[in-house]
Amino acid sequence: MSGFVSLVGAGPGDPGLLTVAGRDRLAEADVVLYDRLANPALLDHAPATAELIFAGKSPEHKAYSQEEINGLLIQHGKAGKRVVRLKGGDPFVFGRGGEEALALVAAGVPFEVVPGVTSAIAAPAYAGVPVTHRGLASSFAVVTGHEDDEKPESSVDWSGIATAVDTIVVLMGGAALPGVARSLIAGGRPANTPAVSVEWGTTAQQRSVGAPLDGIAQAVKAAGLGTPLLTVIGQVGTLRDHIAWFEGRPLFGKRVLVTRTRRQASALSGLLRREGAIPVELPTLELVPVATDHDLAAMAKRLRAKDYSWCLFTSANAVDFVLGYLERAGHDARVFASCRIGALGSATADALRRYGLRADLIAAEFTSQGLLDAVRATEHHHGSVYALEGAIPDDGVSGARILIPRAEGGNPTLVKGLRDYGADVDELALYESRPPAEIDPEARRQIRDGKIDIATFASSSSISNLASVLGSDDFARLRDVVIACIGPVTSETAREYGLEVQVEPAEHTIPALVAALKEHFARKSPETAT
Ligand code: SAH
Repeated sequence: MSGFVSLVGAGPGDPGLLTVAGRDRLAEADVVLYDRLANPALLDHAPATAELIFAGKSPEHKAYSQEEINGLLIQHGKAGKRVVRLKGGDPFVFGRGGEEALALVAAGVPFEVVPGVTSAIAAPAYAGVPVTHRGLASSFAVVTGHEDDEKPESSVDWSGIATAVDTIVVLMGGAALPGVARSLIAGGRPANTPAVSVEWGTTAQQRSVGAPLDGIAQAVKAAGLGTPLLTVIGQVGTLRDHIAWFEGRPLFGKRVLVTRTRRQASALSGLLRREGAIPVELPTLELVPVATDHDLAAMAKRLRAKDYSWCLFTSANAVDFVLGYLERAGHDARVFASCRIGALGSATADALRRYGLRADLIAAEFTSQGLLDAVRATEHHHGSVYALEGAIPDDGVSGARILIPRAEGGNPTLVKGLRDYGADVDELALYESRPPAEIDPEARRQIRDGKIDIATFASSSSISNLASVLGSDDFARLRDVVIACIGPVTSETAREYGLEVQVEPAEHTIPALVAALKEHFARKSPETAT
């Protein structure tokens, strides 16, 4: 059986600009051949078992010639593999995708093309320049010559292009710009035509400069812009001053330490990326199962026997753990049919909803100042004792049979408080959370070198564990970064570890944490756009 090759556009750099079709192909891939300009974060969409081949050509790597790449595509295609050829931007815009398609045709390997968002349009857009605009530009051209050449390549009709189109997007590095500008001016383009150069467009490393056409090469040099670089030339360049929306965002380009578990990190990292920040993931927790399937089966049996009037979930992890088991064991959410469900925090409630369960009670949305004061110095869990009491006055907590499946060594306040109120509580230890055996050396290096701008913590244990895995010298580097904690308990722990907390959202959720960070930096620098 023959395989199938997908020539997939990776988009211009922002991993959010991959198409849905592109993501689907990656998710099914056996082999992925990717380029230097395809954001490596996209490889996370591929199965862990997929073979990843770096086929890029970079100054350091003369990895594969075009012929060798064609050969690899054909070879894996013929071997029956699902192959994704992931190329920066759009595969047919200066991506040599046409050559690969022709080679596949010649070899009789079936293939498809999944277009991508080209940098030629997206990078100007992220710099605040629309390539067309009513009254300013009704046509655009995308041009390139040879990257390393000091002189623009002769195959491009520069003087023809100079006046034939309104907007010219040049996909070439800074070294080529003096020659390009000279040719265009010689061809009749006014020397004062606005030009904007964009380096690493659409990514958190994006930088851009604007200048008249005859000064753009110098401006790029002065600003030290490197590759990948493109330049958009035309009256639309004047719109940048009004439209530039990306580089001036409060969290743009900030490196943010994300200390959640590997699985939980992605939501926070995704939100940060959307704000133009650079998440640096350093998981400080590892969940190790404690409950055996035997324990869980016993739990499910008692639930189905209507043994419990309440089941309380204190974290999204506990929800995933329990519902994951039920799925594995061939049960479903109906085991909870006869008991009510309490969730600590909205994230836990959200996790339940993903399994089709709506919490009857969501605790720890501190309702009154008195309650807030009472629980401030303790774990959130404490809050749910009060909330529970207030929420079920009819049945009362007294005599209620309550199941609490949660992390081993969880705060005893909840269980003790419920028991004091006369409840009959069963605690089931699901998993143990502990610091990881080793951490990513790259993340450690960035902390050590003072590259981190912001550190985020969503739990007390993420702080204590980070201190233990980093050691005191590296941990001390965090004294110079903005510390953001999800709530008062975590902040208290941060202070115990000598960190000064600058950001703490009123609502204790991950989106609120990101919003609070944005506010913090917006206040610090109201006018950052250049
Ligand atoms: N197929 C790609 C272009 C490949 S040619 C696309 O459709 O985007 C490579 C050139 O594209 C680079 O030399 C640079 O000029 C431009 N380029 C690609 N990504 C870029 C980015 N993120 N920012 C600025 N220029 C980029």
